[in-house]
Amino acid sequence: MCGIIGYVGEQNATPILIDGLARLEYRGYDSAGIAVLDSQGAIVVHKRAGKLRNLSNAISSSQPHGVQGIGHTRWATHGEPNDINAHPHVDCTGDLALIHNGIIENYQELRKELMAEGHVFTSQTDTEILAHAIERELAQGAENLETAVRNILPKLRGAYAMVVMSRKEPGKLIGARNNAPLIIGAGNGESYFASDMTALLKHTRSMLTLNDGEYAVITAADIRIHTIDGKQVQRTPIHVEWDAQSAEKDGYPHYLLKEIMEQPAAAQRALLSRIKPLDDRLVPQIDEIDALAQSGKLKNISRIIMLACGTSYYASLIGRAMLERWARIPVEPWVASEFRYADPVVGPDTLVIAITQSGETADTIASVRLAKESGAVVVGLTNMVGSALTREVDVTLYLNAGPEISVPATKTFVTSVMTLTVLALKLAELRDTLDAFAITSLLRQVETIPAKMEKLLEIVGVENNTIQQTAKWLAPCQSAMFIGRGSGYAVAREGALKLKEVSYIHAEGYQAGELKHGPITLLDEFTPLLAVATHSIVYEKVISNIQEVRARRAKVIAVATEGDELIHKHAESVFYVPEIDELLVPALAAIPFQLLAYYTAVERGCDIDQPRNLAKSVTVE
Ligand code: GLU
Repeated sequence: MCGIIGYVGEQNATPILIDGLARLEYRGYDSAGIAVLDSQGAIVVHKRAGKLRNLSNAISSSQPHGVQGIGHTRWATHGEPNDINAHPHVDCTGDLALIHNGIIENYQELRKELMAEGHVFTSQTDTEILAHAIERELAQGAENLETAVRNILPKLRGAYAMVVMSRKEPGKLIGARNNAPLIIGAGNGESYFASDMTALLKHTRSMLTLNDGEYAVITAADIRIHTIDGKQVQRTPIHVEWDAQSAEKDGYPHYLLKEIMEQPAAAQRALLSRIKPLDDRLVPQIDEIDALAQSGKLKNISRIIMLACGTSYYASLIGRAMLERWARIPVEPWVASEFRYADPVVGPDTLVIAITQSGETADTIASVRLAKESGAVVVGLTNMVGSALTREVDVTLYLNAGPEISVPATKTFVTSVMTLTVLALKLAELRDTLDAFAITSLLRQVETIPAKMEKLLEIVGVENNTIQQTAKWLAPCQSAMFIGRGSGYAVAREGALKLKEVSYIHAEGYQAGELKHGPITLLDEFTPLLAVATHSIVYEKVISNIQEVRARRAKVIAVATEGDELIHKHAESVFYVPEIDELLVPALAAIPFQLLAYYTAVERGCDIDQPRNLAKSVTVE
């Protein structure tokens, strides 16, 4: 979590840092701070609790001026979110300033040691020990900042991405990473560090990744990467395709709404070149999976484990239905934070499919490592080129969703589902569990999804006030219940998550059939039921479940299939999605719930793109 930015070049650093932090603020917003090496050679630190605007206001009349600096937006793990605990942190001399993302697990013993030697701590953070530990190395004779940083790294346990600078070595920033993201931007006569590439798109599209256990020394003209033991590493820059515009709001009031509206294009990109015409057929095309099959790695696979957290986990539930139905292989979806400590049964017969939009989710990465150590073959799905996940897996399938800035995920949800759809069909083809005709007919339907999303967004989207009116009556509710069956259940879970994330209304997602085993007690005229009631083999069962609830006076909002007029008998409010194969419905059915969560949050005056207590990339456990 947390956003890190560093700049060294010839321009005034402060506006670059503040702008970078604005783009990284979705990663954490408990406090924000910058340190700039000013033209007098002093390190000037400004930091404020709360959102970035508190910091921007505080420095509006006296901005520090200098050509290098570091900035941080915090998601507090150790020490409350106040001014003092905000980063950057400095050492006793004030010569060093440092920012950090992650948790130093052995900070208490290091802090004790350093305090015993006379170091004075001002904050409660784990981070501050890093500044003092580097100071100690320098005092004990380390020849320069680089050596001092290199000396402390082996002593640290836990996760970190850090950037440090010293007043005594101007023109240089040093960054290091272990289990937390940090990338390097190569500009023209200037260099950058950042937690993710969206913060840098405005300045450069040439980026270098830093791997775990590496550090980098950057100056205006040079970028050097080393392993922790000092060996220099050659790394070729990646050219990032995203442009700066794609990370802007584009006239929308919130990123969330913009990203909801971008889903048709994102889904199209996720499918692009993954569906191939062959004679009069369509075939799923995933070269990476073909390569895995050719290498013999899929030969002994008899089961699939899916690993993910949050919204990606709900995408994996949808993936499970397709993989089992089409590729006839048993699938177990796991929440990664549970998997890693469950002593799971996993081995060379297991194909793991891991999903993380950021590619940095700490629990997912740790679970992938565990699975690999046990001999599993791992396919990773992520939206972030060069992220940690890509280095851990056998093959990476990129989601191609484009930048997703809003903390509640939407584009990466539908692109995960699209990617899993083609993957399931690919495995069905390889395992010979569906014939060419069935695959073609499904792919023909898959191809129509982006256009169907477009149409759906036109009908229920921004201009339509049915969804806004529904949001008006949902807004005062304290609680809501989402239900569905089969893949509709996964949509219900995701719908409930969106509503609670963005509007802070308590929401539960249940299997429709489970209602009468307990949760139905929660339903009354103040607790609405949101039901996925699209056409499927369980349609009538869901309708019965809705009836049971209406008998308890709860109001019903239904997502149904276009043309289903009867549904109006069972629901106060209906949102239609176009007809499609029942396993392909989820990417469409999720959209009305996304919009409903959005407009409900607008009604309630919530902080939509940055909901309280959340951060987008969960890089700590
Ligand atoms: N553990 C550090 C703190 O609480 C860094 C948190 C972060 O990643 O933002 O300050």
